[in-house]
Amino acid sequence: MPTAMPRSMVAGNWKMNTTLAEAVQLAAGVRDGVAALNGLAGVDVVLCPPHISLQAVAEAVKGSAVKVGAQNMHYEASGAFTGEVSPAMVQGMCDYVILGHSERRQLFGETDDLVNRKVKAAFEYGIKPIFCVGETLEQRESGRASEIIGGQVRAGLDGVGDISGLVVAYEPVWAIGTGQAATPEVAAEIMGGALRDALGSLFGPAAAAIPLLYGGSVNAGNVESFAAQDSIHGSLVGGASLQAEPFLEIARLTAQAKASL
Ligand code: PEP
Repeated sequence: MPTAMPRSMVAGNWKMNTTLAEAVQLAAGVRDGVAALNGLAGVDVVLCPPHISLQAVAEAVKGSAVKVGAQNMHYEASGAFTGEVSPAMVQGMCDYVILGHSERRQLFGETDDLVNRKVKAAFEYGIKPIFCVGETLEQRESGRASEIIGGQVRAGLDGVGDISGLVVAYEPVWAIGTGQAATPEVAAEIMGGALRDALGSLFGPAAAAIPLLYGGSVNAGNVESFAAQDSIHGSLVGGASLQAEPFLEIARLTAQAKASL
């Protein structure tokens, strides 16, 4: 049976930015902009606000084509985990959850094993993981980028069975928030190579339907060159997702580039 082509996606990771009021305003701007673009057929638009604004953003985009994602979550349903938020809590407020972001791995000590537990919990609760992998500059410069990506994929997705809804983001750590995006060729080399191979070895032909996002200093000026790559289905956007207009332009250019492939 032929495997479906992955859908395209542009997801905005707002990180620890926006107050509640700012989040609602930004979400409304993106919602109205997507509606004005006739829903951006073929490109899923996802907003990932801080936890505290999830409910309000979900309300703001309700009934529109815009989807909501959490930026993180714990793997347990409840318990003595001060300051944490559980899958049961975010379920119903979001369709997606970003897991394994390099800031979680580097600043908060998240290991492959912890990320793997979270990915499994997301599936258990019907929340679609946007599972992130990426190598550091040191790892790239020592020629280990492919090995690192393959290892993170195999460990983070170990034991996962049904992959429907899974999205994988390749975000080289050296490109995140630095203004130094990878070249489309460097991104495509990993995404069509080590990343695809690792997913294929885990999930067989079904892996071909997993959307792959590039993340790392994506903006309206460079997004077309990423979206023009067959192996890249969209982007995970940090800084450029904090204002509606540039983010909408990224989504529009992605739809345009994908339509002309
Ligand atoms: C991110 O946070 O996932 C990201 C890619 O950030 P930026 O676009 O700012 O590099």
